[in-house]
Amino acid sequence: MLHADTDALKLTVLGKSPAWQDTGGASSGYLLEAKTQKLLLDCGNGVLAELQRQLPPAALDGVLISHLHADHFFDLIPLAYMLTFAPPPYGSPKQKIPLYVPPGAKTVFRTLGSLWSYPSVIEDAFEIHEYALDSAFKIGSLDLQLATVPHFVTTSAISFTHADRRLVFGADCGPNQALVNLASGADLLIAEATMPDDQVGADAGHMSARQAGEHATAADVFSLLITHYSELFDPLWITERVAENYTGSTLLATPQMALTV
Ligand SMILES: [Zn+2]
Ligand SMILES: [Zn+2]
Repeated sequence: MLHADTDALKLTVLGKSPAWQDTGGASSGYLLEAKTQKLLLDCGNGVLAELQRQLPPAALDGVLISHLHADHFFDLIPLAYMLTFAPPPYGSPKQKIPLYVPPGAKTVFRTLGSLWSYPSVIEDAFEIHEYALDSAFKIGSLDLQLATVPHFVTTSAISFTHADRRLVFGADCGPNQALVNLASGADLLIAEATMPDDQVGADAGHMSARQAGEHATAADVFSLLITHYSELFDPLWITERVAENYTGSTLLATPQMALTV
């Protein structure tokens, strides 16, 4: 899985917590780098602080949000404030940074911004693009393919291809075939394992570690990164549950973990 070449995709975990944060942790956020391009994937609560360990936020080339749950986008508010009001290099980029969001997000952002008496706080800071569901588009040198997956709100799993490398982010989702199809043959699948198995219901919007392993095997991915799990669950227990269904390379996401695909 490890490559030291210019075609590589580099992934840095900024936050892997579920809806509540680990001690000193952040909710969903990942820095994806391809050559000189830097994309922030999800921006949950706590992510801005972790992002600044990697780069000044104004150096981002884009931000992409998988779905409109607070643990995946809430730090857009402090990030917007920083981009608008902080001096370079942290804020005040020469051009607005593109922000790719689910349909309807602009309305949600205005409602959220009104809590700060600043409804346009996010649109003032970013160039907003509401993507079409299940669409394919490019961000710089990255080719993206979206697939709608079952969750409590409209949610997209996202495939990123750069040269011959492919990484698939499952976002939040219950068990589903769309993620298997999207991830088929990928170099890396990032899959959530939010639920202890005994809490998973038939209509669940989340997966267990065992189900994440099932999806990795069904998609025949080269490696698996487990995320969106709480520190309250034993990592060894999670790893063992994944291994019941998947024998490939498996890692558990930890803050600031860096992988090269
Ligand atoms: Zn979540
Ligand atoms: Zn969610």
